[in-house]
Amino acid sequence: MQNVSVDEKGQAWITCDSCKHTSIVDLSNHGAGVNIMNYKCLKCGTEFEVTCEFRKFYRKEVGLNGTFIQQKPLKEQAGRIEIIDISRIGLKFKTRVNFDFKPGYILKLTFTLNNRNKTILNQLIEVKWVSGQIVGGEFINMDQWTRQQLGFYFMT
Ligand SMILES: [Zn+2]
Repeated sequence: MQNVSVDEKGQAWITCDSCKHTSIVDLSNHGAGVNIMNYKCLKCGTEFEVTCEFRKFYRKEVGLNGTFIQQKPLKEQAGRIEIIDISRIGLKFKTRVNFDFKPGYILKLTFTLNNRNKTILNQLIEVKWVSGQIVGGEFINMDQWTRQQLGFYFMT
């Protein structure tokens, strides 16, 4: 089976097994992780299976300490968090007590990577889901520097 890697924009280059025709495929609607899908060559019509690896969405399991400050809706709410896993698009964290976050809330997180430089990141996230004290969030307005730091972090 053919293995293709999906880039940050959700696109992958797939080369036909039989005629070697290569085309770019948009997989941005697929979830992160590894997916197996049937692909039909646009040129010769041969169908074959490909495994799509969303490399850029790789999740790293971590245990990073940090804090949050609620930004939206505006409310003086802040606390300690522990980040459980992190990817290029978001993260999952745990709070010590229940803060009753709702999807759509915007939080500013500050946390320290467990790399050699102990890099401190400040990043806004949008809450996507909440399950008790576990919160899943997606990064918003990530700056170039933070993106780079995370990129290096995933390589270690
Ligand atoms: Zn083909």
